Amino acid sequence: MDVVTSIKELRQRINRAPRPIGLVPTMGALHEGHLSLVRRARADSATVVATIFVNPTQFGPTEDLTRYPRDLEADLKLLEDNGVDVAFCPSTDKVYPQGFATTVEVRGPALPLEGEARPDHFRGVATVVTKLLLMSAPDVAYFGQKDAQQAAVIKQLVADLDIPVHVEVCPTVREPDGLAMSSRNAYLSAEQRAAAPVIFGALSAVQTLYESGELSRQTLERRCREMLEAEPLIEAIDYVAVVDSGSFIQAADLLGVQPVTLVVAARIGGTRLIDNVVLKPEAG
Ligand code: AMP
Repeated sequence: MDVVTSIKELRQRINRAPRPIGLVPTMGALHEGHLSLVRRARADSATVVATIFVNPTQFGPTEDLTRYPRDLEADLKLLEDNGVDVAFCPSTDKVYPQGFATTVEVRGPALPLEGEARPDHFRGVATVVTKLLLMSAPDVAYFGQKDAQQAAVIKQLVADLDIPVHVEVCPTVREPDGLAMSSRNAYLSAEQRAAAPVIFGALSAVQTLYESGELSRQTLERRCREMLEAEPLIEAIDYVAVVDSGSFIQAADLLGVQPVTLVVAARIGGTRLIDNVVLKPEAG
């Protein structure tokens, strides 16, 4: 595995790399969720590029940028063990040199929910992902369903900017008790960690309710909210919403017609956790 830190080096390495090239962008602190994307890219591609960059522009001023978990050495070993060809780990000043003055701003799916709760977040994500796509010119870029709204924003920007890449969204990887894997789970105390599966529990209960024929968006959202509220360690619920999976608009009329996504953001202690499930109408 080649470890590269400059954009020039990355381009040189990409220019001689066999295609198809698969790109897996990450912020490091790698877990099985990230590695599932790497393995999928490995299975599909002649060259796998993974990036590790804790992107400061996607963190709000009061968010966890400085304490975000970092372990480059362990991450590089995991990438190498999972067959990555090129690990790109630039410093912040390589990605945002002095005088940097351009941002990519997506509207549409970037506006509601996470867009409201974290006002600059998707601008930071869209800008860095656009840069990473232009630097590494992959054929396929892999993202996780765990961050469903982010995946929708990236699909939107790739379509709108005519970037020639396929965006592949891979399933959420969970702990045995259902908690979606996340680098931020490391912030949870033992007690909070024990309470955290309530999120997936609520999502699964609503999925069952939907599959039993309940098609009222309000009823499904209310049921989810009630289950979260019953857990004393859930300090705040940022949102619970059934949305169209592409536009992220709350989906009143789509239930039972096409797949929709039930998304949740909730806080346990100071830790903000997001998760989602897709509600699919029965085939036939
Ligand atoms: P992050 O390092 O949190 O920016 O995540 C990098 C990529 O890994 C994103 O595309 C995430 O959606 C994806 N990812 C994070 N957690 C999971 C998970 N539990 N299952 C699947 N993909 C994930």
